[in-house]
Amino acid sequence: MSRYTQAVCKLCRRENTKLMLKGEKCFTQKCPIERGRNFPPGQHGKKQKKLSEYGKRLREKQKLKSIMGITERQLKRYFNMARKLKGVLGENLLRLLELRLDNVVYRLGFAPSRRMARQIVSHKHILVNNKPVNIPSYILKVGDKIQLKDKMRDNVLVQKSLEKQSLPSWLKYYPDIYTGEIVALPTREEMSFPGNESLIVEFYSR
Ligand code: SF4
Repeated sequence: MSRYTQAVCKLCRRENTKLMLKGEKCFTQKCPIERGRNFPPGQHGKKQKKLSEYGKRLREKQKLKSIMGITERQLKRYFNMARKLKGVLGENLLRLLELRLDNVVYRLGFAPSRRMARQIVSHKHILVNNKPVNIPSYILKVGDKIQLKDKMRDNVLVQKSLEKQSLPSWLKYYPDIYTGEIVALPTREEMSFPGNESLIVEFYSR
């Protein structure tokens, strides 16, 4: 299954919630959800149906995919990886996603959206422990240092994004050298997904 390439605001409308996929626009009145377009896109979008139990699980899973910008195949792979870890399955799944390089670049404020973060990574603007890494799905661990290379530091979008930086406690930032460090594993309260991960576990365990 290929990556979603249509207007991402449709994904928010589909889920009837702000998934914050567009960076700056999400904080303005231009956001379709802010303008009251909080119904699914398409001709029959306004006729909202009551969701079945299966539908609720499906929507939660889709929401996670949309927020993290990953495909079905990737999510399934993370789920299988999470299964092999000790601890709570749903939390393990979210933690793996949280520790993806593109997500950490976004959470450090180097990019206004995960989409742009992914682009910054794949265009080789990021060093991990002083070595270039261009794989957005690279999973980081405690102690890893993530640095933005010189070339991107003066980028207007990067600077604007850094002004809004709001760090979780598992990340530390050294502004002089544009470097972040993973100082702990993310706890559930500080992960990006606002939904109910147990519905996703139920979806894949059916
Ligand atoms: Fe979602 Fe942002 Fe688009 Fe609003 S502007 S619908 S929050 S992606």
